[in-house]
Amino acid sequence: MSYQTVNPFTDEVIKTFDSHDDAYVEEALTKGHALYKKWRNDPVESRADALNKVADIMASRVDELAKILTVEMGKRFSEAQGEVVISIAIARYYAKNAAEFLKPKNIQSAIGPAQTISRPTGILMMVEPWNFPYYQIMRVFAPNYMAGNPMLLKHASNTPMAADTFEKIVKEAELPDGAFTNLFIDYDQVSHIIADERVQGVALTGSERAGKLVAAEAGKYMKQSSLELGGSDPFIILDDADLFEVEKIISGARLYNAGQVCTSSKRFIVTEKNYDKLVEMLKKAFSEARLGDPMLPETTLAPLSTSKAKKNLTKQVAEAVDAGATLAFGSVEQTKPAALFEPVILTNISKDNPAFYQEFFGPVGQVYKVRDEEEAIALANDSHYGLSGVVFGGSPEHATEVASKIETGAVFVNSFGGTLPELPFGGVKNSGYGRELGDLGIDTFVNKETIVTKHEPIDLNNAFGGFV
Ligand code: NAP
Repeated sequence: MSYQTVNPFTDEVIKTFDSHDDAYVEEALTKGHALYKKWRNDPVESRADALNKVADIMASRVDELAKILTVEMGKRFSEAQGEVVISIAIARYYAKNAAEFLKPKNIQSAIGPAQTISRPTGILMMVEPWNFPYYQIMRVFAPNYMAGNPMLLKHASNTPMAADTFEKIVKEAELPDGAFTNLFIDYDQVSHIIADERVQGVALTGSERAGKLVAAEAGKYMKQSSLELGGSDPFIILDDADLFEVEKIISGARLYNAGQVCTSSKRFIVTEKNYDKLVEMLKKAFSEARLGDPMLPETTLAPLSTSKAKKNLTKQVAEAVDAGATLAFGSVEQTKPAALFEPVILTNISKDNPAFYQEFFGPVGQVYKVRDEEEAIALANDSHYGLSGVVFGGSPEHATEVASKIETGAVFVNSFGGTLPELPFGGVKNSGYGRELGDLGIDTFVNKETIVTKHEPIDLNNAFGGFV
């Protein structure tokens, strides 16, 4: 497996990284396990300063770090700066709140006073994708570092520079050896790590395909796992929606990060009343997108992450059109160089079209016409995925009620919220399981150990206090 930085705007190979052998992996496991044993006895608070230092270092180099993302996976420079900033915020959030989240919880039990305490479980393997190279690492790293779980990272093979840079920052912040090791390894090595008894969990963000394979390995060895997978999120526009508000965000909802966001709005579901207006609005937004060099401020639409991703997305669009979808904007042929992909709008997608259930990971918007709200909810739920979603309606209360009927991990009502450190993130159905971020995001790989402390002598006649 080759770890390579290739600029998707030019297809130029920037750097190739050497892979790590099994001896290097073993060393990382040994150091990680020794650190886990030590961290078990250290208070959570003792780790906060170093995490704040990671945040400080990142804050002092926002542009330098952002440029790596732009060169390596094509993200617009301003979006890359935003990614660094949100990653810093996540680090600070857990440095500040982890001790509170993990503090013992008292239970009044019939046997006597009890409590659940939060203990680390051991080394965590994380497998991360290229679309938000620092942010995806930070979502797992910050909470698990504070919880006391050392980590091994296998990042995407097209974002090695981001992975390497993150590891260097962790070292510079003087986190102990073994706290976080970046590994340039292949899938078999990931499987061997999951099987190792010093490793207690695996967190994967990526495709459904990778999720199934890695979760199967975790299941085989009875390891805890969390999966943050794909999505085909609905954007529902009800009859009474304020279309001026919709217009403010519609471009970003689909085109941010060149549409390569798991929580992008991929399916616009519109009642008959607003359908034509919405299609026109989307066409206008897509036609105004300026596709080009992601380093330039005038560019509003970046290239895809790789030329391979462009080839796959082009094929998906062609198959959708062959199966009867209408090309309402753009064309099947992609004529721009390297990974530049011109946006596409598809309408009239029937249920037997393969596109109906597929995730389009790029600037392709699907628009569906429905009779009414009931049909909108049914269509939103007719998906293998359930990661996030948007509902726009004139009454926020009613739109919130509609939101609660959608089978998904999160819904933003009358807004497109994105992500914040305090908002738990994760999905249902084939979008995966488990939550990252927020208070919930720190619990996944933590042992909630129950301790019951008896203060009175044991009374064997009392079933609750003795044997049951
Ligand atoms: P991918 O192919 O699944 O890659 C993700 C990561 O998994 C990469 O590090 C990849 O390594 C690794 N991987 C793939 N197969 C593996 C295996 N059998 N064993 C071990 N590691 C394996 O995903 P992608 O297509 O690049 O990323 C896009 C997908 O991720 C989309 O579906 C998107 O919706 C989803 N995503 C979800 C979230 C979320 O939070 N829910 C966030 C971002 C993206 P290599 O690069 O070496 O193949």
